[in-house]
Amino acid sequence: MNDRGYYGQFGGAYIPEILVATFDELTLAYESAKADPTFWQEFEELMRTYSCRPTPITFAENLTRHFGGAQIYIKREDLNHTGAHKVNNVMGQGLLIKRMGKSRVIAETGAGQHGVATATMAAKFGLECTIYMGEVDVARQRPNVFWMERLGADVVPVTHGSRTLKDAINEAFRDWVTNMDTTHYALGTVCGPHPFPAMVSWLQSIIGKEARAQMLERTNRLPHRVYACVGGGSNAMGIFSGFFEDEVELIGVEAGGRGIDSGAHAARLASKDASLGVAQGYKTFFLQDDDGQMRHTHSVAAGLDYVGVSPILSHLHEQGRVRFESATDREVVDALALTVRKEGLIPALESSHAFVQAFKEAPELSSDDILLINQSGRGDKDIFTVADAFGDPKWEQFIRDKAEQYNA
Ligand SMILES: *Cc1c(COP(=O)(O)O)cnc(C)c1O
Repeated sequence: MNDRGYYGQFGGAYIPEILVATFDELTLAYESAKADPTFWQEFEELMRTYSCRPTPITFAENLTRHFGGAQIYIKREDLNHTGAHKVNNVMGQGLLIKRMGKSRVIAETGAGQHGVATATMAAKFGLECTIYMGEVDVARQRPNVFWMERLGADVVPVTHGSRTLKDAINEAFRDWVTNMDTTHYALGTVCGPHPFPAMVSWLQSIIGKEARAQMLERTNRLPHRVYACVGGGSNAMGIFSGFFEDEVELIGVEAGGRGIDSGAHAARLASKDASLGVAQGYKTFFLQDDDGQMRHTHSVAAGLDYVGVSPILSHLHEQGRVRFESATDREVVDALALTVRKEGLIPALESSHAFVQAFKEAPELSSDDILLINQSGRGDKDIFTVADAFGDPKWEQFIRDKAEQYNA
């Protein structure tokens, strides 16, 4: 990264003049925290006592036997409080908010997972909290909205544009411009203007630090390949960063949706459909049309359904350091079903993308080879989406009965 937040040709900070001082303040806070070992100690201690860190590594014995090739290990980010890796970033930014002396946090959310994590952090740290969420998402993610409100957050439905994630991001920036003295914007992934990609990667690197040490302790070796799903790219950057200096192959798996050829997907780096652009304050590959209009994306996993991708991952892709693949909705549901049945683990639909690719490669490798999959989150909290994806008729009946109960 250069000093203006570029990774090769990607990244940067395309922000309105009025926010420059706020970004400078944040960059300073981040850099001083990074240079201060007590910050990381405090962060680790917080995560140890609040979010089950270090999360374990599980040997997937039955899946390994099933595929008859490489040994499969799983990093268990699903065991975090609030059910995914997102809390690593959010709690870290919470500590930075304390350092900056701010009293209010805002965030964008699509599926609601980052909103729930941020509202959780705000409750714990005693901060005021506003979450921006597209009106369409508010309607389809009621369980998460319910929890955000119980946690004390003000959930603001965004009623313009496509009324989804990208409109929520724009609205959060608008709020920040007005309230920057008191307010921090806790961006949810390794995207957006500098310093967010660098800062969120650093906070998520707790995953990779642990994973590397755990693999050495457990197997006396490093894994040959590490797999992670890629939405914005934060869980991927988190686990990959533990292995950048090693001879370990890193594989990012994007949402193939209904198939790359269908156009209904969110594969930025694993397809030829994305092009270089500047949006939402940074430069990266976006799924956009020739006029720079963002295209409609699709994935069974709401957390991967995003038009942009981390500028750091775009750079690592260009350099050939990370290989990108995609998994279709159908493959994802099958991999999830198999993992539940064989291991009793319930990966989130997002995480299941990484499982798909590891399952494709495991049979061709030998039992000396070790694969590590990042299980970024747990699927049982997504019962509405997962049950829909499985198309379980008994679940549909249950929903219908519930609705009738309210109509009566
Ligand atoms: C949000 C989410 C993702 C996608 O975000 P990244 O920034 O790409 O990690 C992946 N997995 C789970 C479980 C999520 O909740």
